[in-house]
Amino acid sequence: MTPIDSDVIIIGAGPSGTSAAALIHQAGFTATIIEKEQFPRFVIGESLLPRCMDLLEEAGLLGAVKARNYIVKHGAVFLTDSQRTDFDFGNQFTKGWGYTWQVPRDDFDLTLAAAVEKMGIDIRWQHTVTAVDCRRDGATVTATGPDGMPVTFSGRFVIDASGFGRVLPRLFDLDLPSALPRRDSVFSHFTGDRRPEGDEAGKIWICMLPENAWLWIIPFSNGCTSVGVVAEPAFIDGLSGSLDDKLSAIIDRNPQAAARLAERRPAFAARRINGYSIAVKKLCGDGYALTGNATEFLDPVFSSGVTLALESANRAAKTLIRQLKGETVDWEKDYAAYLGHGVEVFRTYVNAWYDGQLPAIFFNDKATPDIRSQVCSVLAGYVWDMNNPYVARHEKAVDTLARLCEMRMNP
Ligand SMILES: Cc1cc2nc3c(=O)[nH]c(=O)nc-3n(C[C@H](O)[C@H](O)[C@H](O)COP(=O)(O)OP(=O)(O)OC[C@H]3O[C@@H](n4cnc5c(N)ncnc54)[C@H](O)[C@@H]3O)c2cc1C
Repeated sequence: MTPIDSDVIIIGAGPSGTSAAALIHQAGFTATIIEKEQFPRFVIGESLLPRCMDLLEEAGLLGAVKARNYIVKHGAVFLTDSQRTDFDFGNQFTKGWGYTWQVPRDDFDLTLAAAVEKMGIDIRWQHTVTAVDCRRDGATVTATGPDGMPVTFSGRFVIDASGFGRVLPRLFDLDLPSALPRRDSVFSHFTGDRRPEGDEAGKIWICMLPENAWLWIIPFSNGCTSVGVVAEPAFIDGLSGSLDDKLSAIIDRNPQAAARLAERRPAFAARRINGYSIAVKKLCGDGYALTGNATEFLDPVFSSGVTLALESANRAAKTLIRQLKGETVDWEKDYAAYLGHGVEVFRTYVNAWYDGQLPAIFFNDKATPDIRSQVCSVLAGYVWDMNNPYVARHEKAVDTLARLCEMRMNP
């Protein structure tokens, strides 16, 4: 068995793996991606944030995505039974992109993969990684090919971008339970969505439900709309019938969602993901780094998954390129601490969403336009802009504002 050599071996051809490969390739190093599926394949996680645009552009992938004519997402709308509040990315504090796209992931991930193959990057489809040996001076990765035979890959470094496959966290015993309570998700795609007109058409809707549950509505340019609920298991299990029945009953619990989706027809049977939140002991070690969902995954409420997948890939690739060029790098400082900051900002907002502080802010008209624009930049994924007080002092700023809103509501 002759090992397949390249500078970097990347596990997984999702957005994290392909964007890391593109940056490494552009820097003059070789990367091989090992992917267990044959694309297109279904994956959930369809609403991008504007920060993705910078990261796709830097990886040389923005043009390929733009050519797909995905529906433009100008912002996010949060809805209770009767109220709504809009965040327009064009009104944000950070000087960043004012829009992004809603992407069916089978098409989006295939687009990215085809673009990197066109650059000359080797993707080994239908190869499932089963063993990894990482050392300071190199690594060997073993995969099972489509014919069931083992294939060995050798390289100088391994990036684990295997998403929920979590290859290295499993093999190296790096998984940690999340501090967040277990939440599950049930979702499907529907036709028959009565969308708002104009720029409103592509916005994500986040509809609040009882018991801290919420529903997403994500429209696509292909005529389908993704609809899914996130809730603690008891909320879903307490409803009778099939997963389709449960999802339907949940949609009808929010009057604004029910009105919009009154003529819905499912494109496929509803699916369920149980307990998606997971943490990790460390993000890097001798000869490897974890990126994207192979790291920590908090919660989908602010659509941060693909943004963090691209951001971590960008940062890991840049750190690695410096290392491959012979520079001494400090992975903990240059990579793990950087990424950790962004995760901590989102953690504050996720916690504040579920403990009610953030809804109190969102549905209070006392939050000034300046403050809303600073919060909007977080919702746009610009969580490394330390000029934004709602990033730099995220925990304190959110807590103080929530208390202020609470006092104004109950003087
Ligand atoms: C309910 C829910 C809703 C979500 N909604 C959003 C959203 O609206 N917006 C958003 O940005 N994010 C969302 N996310 C998160 C999003 O799904 C992920 O953050 C994103 O897909 C991560 O990308 P990735 O490249 O890290 O991994 P993936 O896209 O999962 O890619 C990993 C790849 O690795 C491959 N792989 C796995 N194991 C192996 C192996 N052993 N060998 C070889 N290959 C392997 C897989 O086949 C896969 O193609 C949501 C998540 C959940 C659970």
